[in-house]
Amino acid sequence: MPLFRIIRRRIRIDAFGRIVRRVRRYSRRTRRPASLTSRRAFTLHKESARAIAHARLEHFARFYAALIPPHTFTYRRVSIRNQRTRWGSCSRRGNLNFSYKLALLPPQLADYLIVHELCHLGQFNHSPAFWALVELAIPDYRVRRDELKNWRESKLV
Ligand SMILES: [Zn+2]
Repeated sequence: MPLFRIIRRRIRIDAFGRIVRRVRRYSRRTRRPASLTSRRAFTLHKESARAIAHARLEHFARFYAALIPPHTFTYRRVSIRNQRTRWGSCSRRGNLNFSYKLALLPPQLADYLIVHELCHLGQFNHSPAFWALVELAIPDYRVRRDELKNWRESKLV
């Protein structure tokens, strides 16, 4: 099954040096397209990502509920997604989304990500008040935020 195709051009030139025909040929390439690889990784890791998300959300929701009653840190649905650009998001309805790559992160970065999205339930912005909330659970959130920005999957290999 061809996974990726590249175009090869063959040019025919006549006796006067003119191009008379361009033949396009398709050939196989062994490299898999990125989308296929990421779909496979998504299938492989999404359930562990879901388990980590639920366990750590529960933990941190309890943490905040004890500190700031009446607590607003009640989330609804948790979804694990295959998104290229986002680590996570929080909807106004209280649904939380995380990348399956949550499962590949070192625990301290996974926790930062989870707390970040959880705190959006209290502050739907990135205001100083939001970061103050994050800081309650993750005092070194600045370091972890930078680490997450620089994190690459290649570190795992
Ligand atoms: Zn945010």
